[in-house]
Amino acid sequence: MTQGNNWSHYFAQLGENQAFEQAIAQTQQAINSLFKNTDKPYSGLEPALLKQQINAVDFSQPASLQEVIESTNELIAKNSLLVQHPHTIAHLHTPPLIASIVAEHFIAALNQSMDSWDQAPAATFVEQQMVDWLCKTYQLGEHSDGVFTSGGTQSNLMGLLLARDWFAANRSQHDVQQDGLPEYAQKMRIICSDKSHFTVQKSASLMGLGERSVVLVKTNVQGQIDVQELQLTIDALKAQDLLPFAVVAMAGTTDHGAIDDLTAVVDIARAAGCWSHVDGAYGAALQLSQQHKSRLKGIELADSVSVDFHKLFYQTISCGALLIKNKANFNTLLHHADYLNREGDELPNLVDKSIATTKRFDALKMFMTLKAVGEKQLGEFYDYLLLLTQEVASKFEQNKHFELCCTPLLSTVLFRLSPLLQGDLSDTEFNQLHQQLRLTMLTSGEAVIAETKVDGKLVLKFTLLNPCLRISDFDSLIAKIEDTALRLIKSR
Ligand SMILES: *Cc1c(COP(=O)(O)O)cnc(C)c1O
Repeated sequence: MTQGNNWSHYFAQLGENQAFEQAIAQTQQAINSLFKNTDKPYSGLEPALLKQQINAVDFSQPASLQEVIESTNELIAKNSLLVQHPHTIAHLHTPPLIASIVAEHFIAALNQSMDSWDQAPAATFVEQQMVDWLCKTYQLGEHSDGVFTSGGTQSNLMGLLLARDWFAANRSQHDVQQDGLPEYAQKMRIICSDKSHFTVQKSASLMGLGERSVVLVKTNVQGQIDVQELQLTIDALKAQDLLPFAVVAMAGTTDHGAIDDLTAVVDIARAAGCWSHVDGAYGAALQLSQQHKSRLKGIELADSVSVDFHKLFYQTISCGALLIKNKANFNTLLHHADYLNREGDELPNLVDKSIATTKRFDALKMFMTLKAVGEKQLGEFYDYLLLLTQEVASKFEQNKHFELCCTPLLSTVLFRLSPLLQGDLSDTEFNQLHQQLRLTMLTSGEAVIAETKVDGKLVLKFTLLNPCLRISDFDSLIAKIEDTALRLIKSR
């Protein structure tokens, strides 16, 4: 016979719950104090030292949760990247809304699982409500539907997976889920621009088609897919007896923020018998902006759309969605499990449309955000952010030590040190100087900026997301980069 035990303080129990309340209060206090007392994006602790300190944590002796919270704060929180800092400006990595963080608290404590209604009664209806809101916002029509995902990668994979299965079903009544890839799989092609996201290639490889099934179309000077080239590419593939089945349009490329001519791309795809997928991980948020939503015109025609909430929707990681125009296409994912989603269940089981089984209740974050912040306010964030980005770009134009690489389209600024500073450095050495500049700023904890390549050239990048920034925040940042660059040049 088992004896009673006193393990209950390990769990967030029902009833009186001092251990839980104390732990949460202590954690919140630690975070408050960190946020109040930190003035750098990163502590500046040497990476080797940080690794050593983390590896030195000894798991053989348990400590009280109180001690663990304290030591986690010292070692982990204080050496974390502070996404709220004005000089954390590298990636599509957002400072989260308070509404999203408190939603996480509910999500964690309630621990609903989105696969079946009996594990997520209210949560299932919340996710469906958010999906319906999105379908309406993007005007995808009465047969549209969607599902929350872990982000853009999973959304793109799902969109292309549905495209593959839809194509095989239409072409030869082939059921990929049942029978695997069709015999013509080697000939199947996905088409996208040469500025589209690497997850298109990654999806192709996961789908068993191989990266070589992805055919790139060149972009115009604005970074948009060249629609004439797109048509020519499709025609040429067909002439070679190949099978283009999906076209990916970009609504916001990661570096330039370029938005393809969505209407033109979808029209071409449709006429060619292809599925059209819009990767809106970055730019689809503009749909909430009265000033900029016209740039997404045509998104409503797409067969599938990826939306990423942990980027411009300011949600905590992870949070995304895939929307599709015709919900019948979710059927290709459907698998009935006796224990979970029986055929003929009256109540909805969201696992029917997901590639995940156990799944987080991330929809609550958007639900609380929509109520507490609202669509209109989010849209105003974007209007401000895009304007601010233009102002930051002109700061680079006006500074003789920098050159602006292109006019910003969304909220990224691509820049280099001016050729004036190259001196006798070779192009390779000058590129290395840029890399060194970025790394010096990062490891000292002064600023986190990004590095990428544009037309083969190494460039530095700001990605603006935080609408609370002011133009004055950039004066000190740019001055810091400038000083560091000049110092590095001197010391060479
Ligand atoms: C970020 C991004 C992705 C990948 O999304 P994750 O949320 O990081 O998985 C895909 N496409 C574009 C354009 C992106 O910016």
